[in-house]
Amino acid sequence: MSNLKMKEAALIYLDRSGGLQKFIDDCKFYNDSKQSYAVYRFSILINPSDIVELDAELGNYILHQPLKAAHVFQSVCFVAVKTLSLIGQLQTETQINIVLKLTHLPPLRSYSLDLCEFPLDYASQRFYMMQGIVIAMTTVTKYTQGARFLCSDEACPLSKGFEYIRVHVPGATESATVRNDFLCNLCSSSLQEDRKFRVLGDKQIVEIITAKALHAFQGYSNSQPFRFQSLTIFLRDESVSKMNIGNEYKIIGIPTCVRTSQTAVCIEANSIISYNPEVPSGISDNFRYLLSLTSSSCWKFTAILANIFASQIVPPGTYNLLKLCLLMSLVQTSDRNKELKDCLDILIMTSDTLLVDRLLNFSIKLVPRGIRHPVSTEIFPTLSRNKYGTGAVSIQAGSALLAKGGICFIGDLASHKKDKLEQLQSVVESRSITVYIPGKKFGDDINQQMTFPVQCSFWSFVDMDSSSRRNMQKTNTLIGRMDCSLIPANLVEAFGLLINCNESSSSYPLISTVQHTLKKAINPEELLYVASKKFTTEDFEKLLAFAKNLNVEFSLEAERMIHGYYLASRRIRTDSISGSKLSASALKYLVSLAEAHARLNLRNRVLKEDVLIAALLFETSLTLKYGATVFCVAPNAVFPFELYNEEYLEQRDIYLNQCQQQLQQFIATYGPGTAIFTSDE
Ligand SMILES: [Zn+2]
Repeated sequence: MSNLKMKEAALIYLDRSGGLQKFIDDCKFYNDSKQSYAVYRFSILINPSDIVELDAELGNYILHQPLKAAHVFQSVCFVAVKTLSLIGQLQTETQINIVLKLTHLPPLRSYSLDLCEFPLDYASQRFYMMQGIVIAMTTVTKYTQGARFLCSDEACPLSKGFEYIRVHVPGATESATVRNDFLCNLCSSSLQEDRKFRVLGDKQIVEIITAKALHAFQGYSNSQPFRFQSLTIFLRDESVSKMNIGNEYKIIGIPTCVRTSQTAVCIEANSIISYNPEVPSGISDNFRYLLSLTSSSCWKFTAILANIFASQIVPPGTYNLLKLCLLMSLVQTSDRNKELKDCLDILIMTSDTLLVDRLLNFSIKLVPRGIRHPVSTEIFPTLSRNKYGTGAVSIQAGSALLAKGGICFIGDLASHKKDKLEQLQSVVESRSITVYIPGKKFGDDINQQMTFPVQCSFWSFVDMDSSSRRNMQKTNTLIGRMDCSLIPANLVEAFGLLINCNESSSSYPLISTVQHTLKKAINPEELLYVASKKFTTEDFEKLLAFAKNLNVEFSLEAERMIHGYYLASRRIRTDSISGSKLSASALKYLVSLAEAHARLNLRNRVLKEDVLIAALLFETSLTLKYGATVFCVAPNAVFPFELYNEEYLEQRDIYLNQCQQQLQQFIATYGPGTAIFTSDE
């Protein structure tokens, strides 16, 4: 009786939810095709809240015994097919394959599977929700959805008809569905598959890790190799190609235990939902107060941020230019699975590799996808044979794809081999990577290729001490140009921002750094400065999370100025021999820099003051790459003085206002459409 009641409820649900109409449409498709199959596959969308409200027993059945619940719908659908004559070719109920697709699961702890907790429950064959980042995926291959078997004894009535139907169930391997050792129930002769009725579906295997595992990439020390466990997800049919490497998803599925050459817990995915974390609603009170104090200026707030940032690593006032650039690169990251167009790659020339390395390691921890690339692994995707023996090739993400929407810090540039640097250059320029899958090597007839977008900013540094030692005899003829002959010139050019960060540079108070280092050595946990207590690491994390989610747009004035500077700069850096030094991506970097400065100021609008900072940073970088030009920018233009108090900030504003006028003059003289520009001014 209970079963009958559930069938009634299932029919009512199908009718009310529009599922019945969809089923009838799907049947029409099969009927019109006139093709006869072993099984007919239907997916039915289930909203657990609605169904529990309609019939608690059926709802409970779906949530906790989904495979049996599918049989309830199978019976209902078979009756519908027969009464309404929906598919002429269909003969038996076993030929109907129902897949229940859940919209969500109750937001209760017992329905979520924490990938960090073991053992995982794979015995109860019910739905769980889990969340993870895709670190590897295979190419798409075929699997058997269903097959028809016939008795081999021609005299037996079961040598015809559709009595013996095998259907794939979650967790089953290919050999479980299609085997040659089945026997006829009636006469015990062996069963043989009728191959022309076999139904094939698409299959893809992905591996996910919990987001917590990314911490292993953050506090990473090169001397300690580490491993983490990934979880295998089977995607079938409409779920195939729904997941991308590097993205984070919530997955509803049934954990099962797959026994092939090895035994492993896998998940048969049922529904896949893109995961987007919530945007923080605000910033800390101290930052809010600081913002209101500095509201009269467009430059003071970010100057103070840069000054006090990472005071756990370097004393306030040290490496301010670098710290400002790091903060700007950090606010251009994104933790919503959307396309990241505004990368800000940073290459640092330094003789102080120890502090710079520490500073960068500290900084990447402030965003969810800050990845410190471990030397022992690959930056870009690699291929391996899939361990489930399905013939598919598995593509492993590598650090760059794992850093999707964030920062990939690859350490000392010189530590990478020449071919990897060439690959890096091509990726930085094209923002994508293509993986070639040689068919021969992986037992396939055809060669394949897959292209992945690379959506992270790269950070790296070059040790100038080793560079200058090797190139002692070289003299530098261009004013301001840095000798970076250790690294291929094309690669240096590819990085949007080149920063010179040395003890000899003006923003380096030697005494306070020594004091800082000594105090930290005695008590590593101590907060040495008032600023570190008032503006904690968590405060910065929250500030960055808030700032990067701001939607910014350019004011007309700022837009004109950025184009003006770009075109003027392009014009004066063009010579008849090698053409223009400024690539097409230069404008993209400038826009990203200006946006970043506006965001760091927690503004929605990019102003000409932001463009000035972008232009100064960019011009400083160009000067290091190619030498100075008529738009002569001092190496310390963004932080011109040493003192850091209110008076200093006031003076800096006056200085930056002068720079602004110089920039406008430069655009007026060398920019295109000068007449139009000045008349508007
Ligand atoms: Zn038989």
